[in-house]
Amino acid sequence: MIKQAIILAAGMGSRLAALHDKAPKSFITIEETPIIIRSIELLLSVGIDHILIGVGHKKEFFESLKNKYPITCIENPAYASTGSLATLAVCQNSLRKNEPVLLLESDLLYEKQALMNTIDSPYETCVLSCPVTTFGDEVYIQRTYKNTLINMSKKQEDLEETSSVLVGINKISANHFEKLCNISKQLTPEKHYEDGLVTLAQSEPVHVIKRDITWCEIDTPEHYHFASSIIWPEIKKKETVPNIPRNILLNPGPATTTDTVKYAQVVPDICPREAEFGDILTSIRNDLTNLCAHTETHTTVLIGGSGTAAVDAMLSSVISRTALVISNGAYGKRMEEILKTYNIPYIVIHSEPTEPLNIKIIEAEIIKHHADLSHICMVHHETTTGLLNPIEKIGELCQTYKLSLCIDAVSSFGAIPIDMAAMNVDFLASTANKNIQGMAGLAFVIANKKALQVTKELPAKNYYLHLWSHYDSLEKTKQTRFTPPVQTIYALRQALIELKQEGVENRYRRYISCWETLMTGLNSLNLKTLVEKEHHGKLITTILEPTLPNYNFQDMHGYLYDRGFTIYPGKLGNNHTFRISNIGELHSKDIALFIDALKNYLSIIQ
Ligand SMILES: *Cc1c(COP(=O)(O)O)cnc(C)c1O
Repeated sequence: MIKQAIILAAGMGSRLAALHDKAPKSFITIEETPIIIRSIELLLSVGIDHILIGVGHKKEFFESLKNKYPITCIENPAYASTGSLATLAVCQNSLRKNEPVLLLESDLLYEKQALMNTIDSPYETCVLSCPVTTFGDEVYIQRTYKNTLINMSKKQEDLEETSSVLVGINKISANHFEKLCNISKQLTPEKHYEDGLVTLAQSEPVHVIKRDITWCEIDTPEHYHFASSIIWPEIKKKETVPNIPRNILLNPGPATTTDTVKYAQVVPDICPREAEFGDILTSIRNDLTNLCAHTETHTTVLIGGSGTAAVDAMLSSVISRTALVISNGAYGKRMEEILKTYNIPYIVIHSEPTEPLNIKIIEAEIIKHHADLSHICMVHHETTTGLLNPIEKIGELCQTYKLSLCIDAVSSFGAIPIDMAAMNVDFLASTANKNIQGMAGLAFVIANKKALQVTKELPAKNYYLHLWSHYDSLEKTKQTRFTPPVQTIYALRQALIELKQEGVENRYRRYISCWETLMTGLNSLNLKTLVEKEHHGKLITTILEPTLPNYNFQDMHGYLYDRGFTIYPGKLGNNHTFRISNIGELHSKDIALFIDALKNYLSIIQ
């Protein structure tokens, strides 16, 4: 997946001088937004996190954008006497190595789909084209029957076949980019990137993808008029999507998602065995790994299913001898049940669900059974109570006693920062639909590669959930072993873009601000929490039910549900509790509204 882009913006654009006055032409505005800014924002929204702008003419305008956008300006000092190919070449050293790059012209007004079509095309290097337009100043394309580039020209009569025109949005592989830079040294300096691509196409396949997209280049006052009166309204119409009612989900996942994540599922029909889908899987795996480790030492295995599928795959596939389970809630109990189902030997330490773990007792238990133990299994954030377990402390014990640590981080990953290497965690199970704010249906295990490699030799205890087999398939074929939840994966890609933009720490901070609003509200309503505040993970709160005689959970749930709030029942046998989670696309004002509604309900049943 492409994560970096170059916008070629060094040229003078003299034909538009009258319209954009002192600024470069890409600062021309459509509905008050300069087209360069629209372009930068679109790039960021599709996950491009390294944007280079090749500048020259009036470079200070571009430099000023650095205050607001994460961009880097690279100067082509010879912009007045060289073409865009020279500007492309000066960007070479600032690109991330071995990654493809999106190459854009700066004077384009285009719909977002144009970027998606290019990013998601199966070809390493391709130019985006569309059916022949009549805006004026078209670059016509001649291609082979295999849709590879032969030639480009502004003069239709130069070419034998001209059924498509160049848009100015292109994808270039790392290898081809290097070749283009070498070509720029061979061609005369005034050549443009199009000339470079045509030369490249003589020895390498440069694919021409043709899509019916809405766009135009703004080079002349006529273009500008056309762009603002025809193209822009059309783009707006295409990009306006129906509003989807937003429910405030206060259950601990699936969590409330953004509209962009919801709509990311709407993609052209695709077979998940195609190369472009494999690229998406690889990129998602790397993004997930990078949230808590490094891709050199760790890897992510994607498994279709809910969070429990990942926990099941992890526990059934990695334990070589006896496991020690630390259990202090329903999800710890689930770990025990999984191990029992597979007849995997385990010892369990039951700890009070409302009290922090006693590390001394755990250590004593480790020492007692040390001869048999190979793994420790525990839940990071126990969703039953909201209690946060100190994985780093158990990780230290694992290091001391040479044990491997497996954690269920289903409800913590993506919000509570985790560093697998520093915390000595070898395996971590989680899911797309909690703090990552994606859709339900995809789970994953993040593993230390060395620890994972060892599991290859263990006899498989199951067929579908065998972790090594999933990993092996992903590594060897870039495909999932079985049919993946295709649309859920597109949503996850978008959710990861949004998580990266927000950052795990900031996401946790936002969740904590929701939790603080919740705590203040509960306090004002005289409602008590099951666990002492200081032990809260601040993601879910277990609340003791009010003792009012007319109180009934279902009744309260119904009242709140009708008002857009979904609350969750308690899970611990004896205590009369209900749970409020504050994960997902929520802000403290949503929690304040919930508190108001809860207050109203309680006053009605008084
Ligand atoms: C949500 C959750 C799971 C997985 O539950 P599913 O219903 O399978 O998605 C596992 N562990 C914890 C701690 C959880 O919060």
